[in-house]
Amino acid sequence: MGEERASTWDILRERMVKEQIESRGVRDKRVLEVIRKVPRHLFVPEAYLDEAYDDHPVSIGEGQTISQPYIVALMTSLLELKGDEKVLEIGTGSGYQTAILAELAKEVFSVERIESLAKKAKKRLEDLGYKNVHIKVGDGSLGWEEHAPYDAIIVTAAAPKLPKPLIDQLKVGGRIVIPIGDRFFQSLHRYVKKEDGSLEGQDFGGCVFVPLKGKEGWD
Ligand code: SAM
Repeated sequence: MGEERASTWDILRERMVKEQIESRGVRDKRVLEVIRKVPRHLFVPEAYLDEAYDDHPVSIGEGQTISQPYIVALMTSLLELKGDEKVLEIGTGSGYQTAILAELAKEVFSVERIESLAKKAKKRLEDLGYKNVHIKVGDGSLGWEEHAPYDAIIVTAAAPKLPKPLIDQLKVGGRIVIPIGDRFFQSLHRYVKKEDGSLEGQDFGGCVFVPLKGKEGWD
């Protein structure tokens, strides 16, 4: 990639932040700064490079997608990360959201069901120098118990309901951000775990995600 090309990416990224993210109300300065920094085009397959900074999800193969930039920003801001958290991500996909989390938290544990995607994401993140990311292949609807409890959990595929293992693996005061619904209607939820173990939930409106498969997800 020549210097001229590199600066084009920077311009596209800046425009994406202004026109797609800030304009829709995401204000968290740390999140915006990191989205300005992480080279999203390096997480998109060569064939779709031209769409890397567009206002929609992009195919990453295996029938999966890298989420729309605004949704990544919104979900990340809802986690309210300050820098010292242990975060669990379900659905590594391209690794883009993982990189954003790695910039904003202390450690990131990410579970991906599809081995080829997990391998590619791991290599990308290593090449970019991220040392606080751990990826495993498996059924993320069961969480990653070995490293629990987590300060924050993000699920980047739509679940039929909030998976119980994820609730169990969340710290008191911790946040889960997750799309819930079927193939036709989904909405984005955030739950905060209270002292007595119950959850306080809020609905952030409609969204479109690929389904969360697995024991606590869809068949
Ligand atoms: N966050 C990703 C990114 O930045 O590229 C996008 C994720 S994509 C919308 C959803 C991902 O969830 C897919 O890669 C899919 O294979 C994965 N997935 C679906 N069900 C899963 C499960 N039970 N466990 C782990 N990953 C799962």
